[in-house]
Amino acid sequence: MSTILKSDHSRIMSLESLAFDNRYAKLPAAFFHTTSPRPLKGAHLASFNGRLGRQLGVTVADSAQHGFIDYFTGAREMAGAAPLAMVYAGHQFGHYVPQLGDGRAVLLGQVRDKQQRLWDLHLKGSGPTRFSRGSDGRAVLRSSIREYLCSEAMFGLGIPTTRALCLIASRERVVRERVEPGAMLVRMSPSHVRFGSFEYFYHRDEYDHLRQLGEYLLEEEFLHLRDESSPFLAMFDEVVSSTARLIAQWQGVGFCHGVMNSDNMSILGLTLDYGPFAFIETFEKDYICNHSDYQGRYAFGRQPEMAHFNLLCLATALLPLVDDDKAVAIAQLREVLANYWPRFNAAYLAIARAKLGLVTDEAGDLELWQGLLQLMEGQVDYTTFLRELGAIPLSQLAHHPQREAFADLQSFDLWIYEYRQRLAREGRSDEARRDAMNGVNPKYILRNAMAESAIRKAEEEGDYSEIDRLLPLLHDPFSEQAGMDAYARPSPEWAQRIQLSCSS
Ligand code: AMP
Ligand code: MG
Repeated sequence: MSTILKSDHSRIMSLESLAFDNRYAKLPAAFFHTTSPRPLKGAHLASFNGRLGRQLGVTVADSAQHGFIDYFTGAREMAGAAPLAMVYAGHQFGHYVPQLGDGRAVLLGQVRDKQQRLWDLHLKGSGPTRFSRGSDGRAVLRSSIREYLCSEAMFGLGIPTTRALCLIASRERVVRERVEPGAMLVRMSPSHVRFGSFEYFYHRDEYDHLRQLGEYLLEEEFLHLRDESSPFLAMFDEVVSSTARLIAQWQGVGFCHGVMNSDNMSILGLTLDYGPFAFIETFEKDYICNHSDYQGRYAFGRQPEMAHFNLLCLATALLPLVDDDKAVAIAQLREVLANYWPRFNAAYLAIARAKLGLVTDEAGDLELWQGLLQLMEGQVDYTTFLRELGAIPLSQLAHHPQREAFADLQSFDLWIYEYRQRLAREGRSDEARRDAMNGVNPKYILRNAMAESAIRKAEEEGDYSEIDRLLPLLHDPFSEQAGMDAYARPSPEWAQRIQLSCSS
């Protein structure tokens, strides 16, 4: 191995100079299983996210180098990397599963970016690990493209998320409902610790490990809480805040995660583990994007409640860290958890006001917003309607281009009348309102049809150009982009109805 590294040293300079600092690997063996990724047959680079790469000092030119693929598929070990699969547990669809873990991913290692920020370099689809539970450890091209594009779409929308550095396609076949090409995704995140990471140690009564995990996070991510009288309670308070803000953003943009199990909840309040997700197109409060979610547990409108359930699971797991007296710990954690709803509601209302172009606070604003959602239900495209609403001068509001899409025209006209009165009380110019609304109502989201066309080209023709075309578009979703209007249109009916499964 090392001779190969030496001989290729000059050609892959910036990958070779990645500054690994594997903090997680220094935790006790109980936290992970050391494992190496298994390369894919015929692996080749499908897309490289140059914008994210620059943060690490890895360029598009590096990605084109022979050797890059070998490093990012595990055919060659990166100097300094310490690949491992993280263990965790979690509540899946409400039921506790005592052991999960990276079943198809490895943490290649942690690297410092140019700003000295520590990032997990995580390879998804990297073959079986100790935690694969009999599955193949692979990811299909279809779902890898979706994760690649959606991570970056969320980033562009200003919503906290794990990132995607590159997408690797292959000639390897993977068996799902059909035989499909396998792929790998290099995911980056400041941390992959999940609510379920804490649950794993708590439910095994391994309180020393539980404390070590807490200490690790305090050190790496919550250093400013170190000197608090109760640092783990303070950490939980921050997780409650970041989760409330994240879910308010999801609800605001119309993002449906699809599988909000506690093992898919990031301790940093990031969108994590993209599976059967979807952006709402025609507004539907109870939209379900995961075809295995028979009860609609993770329906769009239930996401805030599900986040609260997951925070309760986390609070339980933190009990031994907060106070030796269990009754005291329960009371304290409960008090902090009680902040979730007020924080979520405040964040959501602020988003709703901004989406309506309101700058002042009035008592009836939430009702005004909810009234609009009710009218849109099952009829109107959420994203284009709001974008267009911002573009119409106050005097023309009665002529919204999508007016005819509302079945209850009378109620819609009444709503517009009230909205107009409300705006008139603010006295803002049409231009100022439009500019502000354009900054919060995206023109482009990752619609199902967009992902599908990129997937079809890739699967059928080995053509990845559509992915590279979508990436800059999604990085900048609030701007008008010349020649890209077709991407702002609602997906056709067939694509709106697509439901996806979890572990593809
Ligand atoms: P997910 O629903 O994708 O969050 O996956 C739940 C758990 O199943 C995680 O621990 C995954 O690592 C694992 N998993 C999902 N798909 C596979 C697969 N194809 N092979 C091995 N493990 C998997
Ligand atoms: Mg997961």
